[in-house]
Amino acid sequence: MSILDTKLNHVKTVLILGHVHPDGDCIGSALGLYNYLEAVYPQLEVTLCLEEPSVKFAYLKGFDQIRTDFTEGVSFDLCICLDCSDKERLGEGQNGLELAKDSLCIDHHITNTGYAADNVVIPEASSTCEVLFGLLDEGNITKEIAACIYTGIIHDTGVFKYSCTSAKTMEIAGKMMEKGIDFTSIIDGSFYQKTYVQNQILGRALLESVVFFHGTCIFSAVRKKDMDFYGVTSKDMDGIIDQLRVTEGVECAIFLYETEPQRFKVSLRSNSGLDVSKIAGFFGGGGHVKAAGCTMDGSIYDVINNLSKHIEKQMKELAAVSEPA
Ligand code: AMP
Ligand code: MN
Ligand code: MN
Repeated sequence: MSILDTKLNHVKTVLILGHVHPDGDCIGSALGLYNYLEAVYPQLEVTLCLEEPSVKFAYLKGFDQIRTDFTEGVSFDLCICLDCSDKERLGEGQNGLELAKDSLCIDHHITNTGYAADNVVIPEASSTCEVLFGLLDEGNITKEIAACIYTGIIHDTGVFKYSCTSAKTMEIAGKMMEKGIDFTSIIDGSFYQKTYVQNQILGRALLESVVFFHGTCIFSAVRKKDMDFYGVTSKDMDGIIDQLRVTEGVECAIFLYETEPQRFKVSLRSNSGLDVSKIAGFFGGGGHVKAAGCTMDGSIYDVINNLSKHIEKQMKELAAVSEPA
């Protein structure tokens, strides 16, 4: 019996939450758990609240049950937070966590602060979906739940290519395939397919990208006025950082987009020994060693200047370790 079952045996009402700007792993784990509770614990009253999810995940069962109006002032017996490294990243969900009688966090961020009453955090896991799988009874995983877990895994591993992918990740994905999911359309539909405007903004970001530190770093920034021109929102920016990251010779990729005047959502990726979670953490964000993010204020120049100081410092430290004086 996992900690999840132990906690669920004593409750009537459950609130499921995830992080702001929910990605495939957040939505997949939240819906995977939601569908599991519905199937295995039908007596529970379960509420799932997330910020507006991208419609590309609408194939997941329960997608239409996601509430984007957050509960205010309601005290749930148990609040389960998924894929969220700290309280602040729950956004409007924070109130639900604070009022809940008990709480459980299921996550894989190295920067997780342990903010719930109990925290199942496995930084080596590829995704929160992988952590969640370990807490579920395999026999009760339906095809619909398998589609949710598989979705989270492919999104956080970049379809099994990032270094967070392990043999265990592949085994779990294989088990989900055995449940009969349509994995080709999940991968194409939710990961690779882009709308016309998403391709346009990707192209624009690549055209305007700049390499520095002798080609070992690359950055690109998209201003709000350009997002408005192309008619794109934050949900359309997925994948841009991944394309910057695969530029030959690049050890660190940075992508920024403006969320409000002089405020940027920053994505960082490392292809080397560089630990970008430390850099994002310094600026109030977090994430993983090779993929992290934060929000920064100032001009594009200020943001890149501040980030590059930290990157340079780490690069020097790494060089000193590999070539002792
Ligand atoms: P992103 O660049 O937004 O795709 O995020 C990369 C990783 O860093 C993901 O695992 C995010 O959950 C995490 N992350 C991004 N932004 C933040 C933030 N402001 N605070 C904590 N973690 C973050
Ligand atoms: Mn996530
Ligand atoms: Mn994740």
